[in-house]
Order: sequence, then C-alpha cells, then structure tokens
Amino acid sequence: MSRRIVLLGAPGAGKGTQAAAIRERFGVPHISTGDMLRAAVAAETPVGLQAKAVMEAGQLVSDEIVIGITRDRLGEADCEPGFILDGFPRTRAQAEALDALLEELGRPLDCCLALTVDVEEVLPRLLKRAEIEGRADDNEESIRKRMREYEQKTAPLLDHYRQQDLVVEVSGVGTIEEVGRRIEEALS
Ligand code: ADP
Repeated sequence: MSRRIVLLGAPGAGKGTQAAAIRERFGVPHISTGDMLRAAVAAETPVGLQAKAVMEAGQLVSDEIVIGITRDRLGEADCEPGFILDGFPRTRAQAEALDALLEELGRPLDCCLALTVDVEEVLPRLLKRAEIEGRADDNEESIRKRMREYEQKTAPLLDHYRQQDLVVEVSGVGTIEEVGRRIEEALS
C-alpha cells in the first residue's frame, strides 16, 4: 500500500483537506510546505522574514528555502513509516531534489496523487476560504498569480512522475466525502 505520497493539484483543489483524511487512514504525517512557511512567517524566523512578501504576492518562495525546510522535516523520526507531501514539489528543481533525497534515504516514492479540478471550480472555493480564514494570499490577484505559477511550473511535474509510472489521477470535483472515497479507492 502507498505510504510515501506526493499530492499534486492546483491551488484550491482540496489538497490540504484530503491530506488530513489520508493522514488518518495511513497514520503518516501530513507535510504542507504552505503550512510550514506560514508558521515561519508568524514566528518571524529568518525564513519567514524572507518568504512573507513573496507569499503574499502569490509567487513561489525560492527552491533553496523550500528544499531546505522539506529536507529537515523528512529527516524527522515520524516520517519513517511514510508521509504525504502537500505543496511540494512545485518546480522541477524541487522534484529532482526530492528524488535525490529519497534515493539517499533508500525510501522511494510510492505514488503521486493528482487531484484534478477546473479553474472555474476553484476560484469560488478560494474566495470563500479567503472570507473564512483571512489568509493574506487569498485575494483575487494573488490567486490568479498562484494559478499561473501552478500551470507554468507545477503542472509539468505530472510528466516527471508519469515517466516514473507513479501518477494516480483523481477528480477533485464533488463533496469532500465523495473525493475522499475516490482517493481511498485509488490508493488501496
Ligand atoms: P495553495 O495551494 O492554496 O496555493 P499553499 O498553502 O500550498 O497554498 O502555499 C501558499 C504559498 O506558500 C505559495 O503560494 C508559495 O508562495 C509558498 N509555497 C508553498 N510551498 C512552496 C513550494 N514548494 N515552493 C515555493 N513556494 C511554496
């Protein structure tokens, strides 16, 4: 069964919500680079101070920073049985760094779970989240920028993982429960 999972999907595809459910089912940690970066911003660490403005503008934080925090996190003991990576990798350089790191650890990926949605589906979800959570980067301009970053830099990673025969695609359209059931079937 898949335990080392990369979750790929556009902003607002529901990665965070579904990752939490997968964590329950497999008992592996949910590692969200977005959450780690937001925590660093809130704590005003050196990484947070560098990342804040970039994140608010909907741009990507540098590969160097993100690869560093992910490498540290994957080295912690709770990642031994596996992990769900949410929001990483987002660029080819990050994907290559992850491949190299996992090879070094002798723990290759089991699966790249791709959550697919349309832009029309996602924009209202993100605007609604903006109202509820008040995230600084959930304004329309930043959302559009994040969509473009996703299309240009992250969507091509599907091919990277297709070449390794790791991609499992699941539609992210529907209720949380419906999507959750599809994921459960796809991963079992
Ligand atoms: P969403 O998926 O809704 O765009 P995330 O919480 O995953 O939100 O990420 C929020 C922001 O954090 C991104 O727009 C980006 O600025 C930064 N970020 C998160 N993960 C990465 C990453 N792997 N590489 C570069 N920047 C990242």
